[in-house]
Amino acid sequence: MIVSDARNDFNLALEESGKLLRRAKSEILQINVGKLCNLTCVHCHVNAGPKRKEIITGETIDRILEWFDQTDIPILDMTGGTPEMIPDFKRLVKTVRAFDEPRRVMDRLNATIINEPGYEWVPEFLAEHEVEIIASMPCYAPDNVNEQRGDGVFDRSIEAFQQLNELGYGRDPKLILNFVYNPNGGFLPPEQAGLEADYKREMKEHFDIDFNALYCIANMPISRFASYLKREGELQPYMDLLRQSYNPETVGSLMCRDTINVSWEGEIYDCDFNQMMKMPLGNSATGAKSTKVWDLDLDAFLNQPIRTGNHCFACTAGSGSSCGGSLS
Ligand code: SF4
Ligand code: SF4
Repeated sequence: MIVSDARNDFNLALEESGKLLRRAKSEILQINVGKLCNLTCVHCHVNAGPKRKEIITGETIDRILEWFDQTDIPILDMTGGTPEMIPDFKRLVKTVRAFDEPRRVMDRLNATIINEPGYEWVPEFLAEHEVEIIASMPCYAPDNVNEQRGDGVFDRSIEAFQQLNELGYGRDPKLILNFVYNPNGGFLPPEQAGLEADYKREMKEHFDIDFNALYCIANMPISRFASYLKREGELQPYMDLLRQSYNPETVGSLMCRDTINVSWEGEIYDCDFNQMMKMPLGNSATGAKSTKVWDLDLDAFLNQPIRTGNHCFACTAGSGSSCGGSLS
């Protein structure tokens, strides 16, 4: 169903619309620190969960930090799994914030970790280091959230966001709190600005919660979400919808152009989705064999082609989709 060779339909769509997808200057280092998580969400493209053992080691973090410090990449984006569950989370954040040229640090937070025993330190630590939070909140009503992410997740998330608000998140300009919406099935997200206005009104009125921005992200038809769609008989209709909704205007803003995605083992990918599809770089910007980030020559990386598959239609459908929300 999902083809990932050079002649895939996505590449044909690019060609037919006269678009080239190539690497631009790298602006974000995104590390997927591993698959360990306290939840098992239906839409998870990482297949993360409490029993997963794959997490980044201290040695791998050291090698990445040494390389990162030498670059001018301004942003570190941490994703997972649940990043706070890795043993070196605090060290990673503190080191990057203490570089001679400190970098912006973003944390893709699963808010329920805040009320798990042993993780009480998370809110204060993130605030102290001015880590920007991007938190999943697929709806402002409980039923949709619990259905997608598990029973009780809505109430636990609300409690966590109220705690973050009390520390200044979403209120103090230095403490950014952004929410992520993703659809509860095989359909595209609605228009981002309108939904953000609805979220802001409902979250304030019912829970006195403030936040900065809402990112609308389309679900990727891979991993756990693809299995879910298949079980429901919705995989082919969803793929058809994504293809029919191809919008060439989104191509210039795709996140794979300026984001370097790195696995818990230090390997480089064009994006987190390609990582989960086991599609390493399709170019020669590293040494002949290695794809480790510490071997990457950023100058050689510029203008390199990006490896695509038919799952890429999820990024170019409608208004487009990326880790930072809609693209147009
Ligand atoms: S979507 Fe996020 S919170 Fe949910 S299982 Fe995956 S990594 Fe964990
Ligand atoms: S899945 Fe999206 S971000 Fe990844 S390579 Fe394809 S278009 Fe780029």
